[in-house]
Amino acid sequence: MYPKIDYDKCVGSLECYDVCPADVYDEEETKDGKRAVVARPDECTECEQCIDACPTDAIELVE
Ligand code: SF4
Repeated sequence: MYPKIDYDKCVGSLECYDVCPADVYDEEETKDGKRAVVARPDECTECEQCIDACPTDAIELVE
């Protein structure tokens, strides 16, 4: 499985980017600042640390 970000909920805190031990996320510039993107989904170990860290519950693991 790999993470999917709901950008209707994401506020760009980058907590997932900071916490992920497997380097799944990259940062992306937006017109309002930055946001995380799932850059290396195959690296995900399903540890769920990003899900726990997200302040707005914007991440879920999907098949
Ligand atoms: S579940 Fe763990 S390994 Fe997968 S993206 Fe989230 S923090 Fe990274």
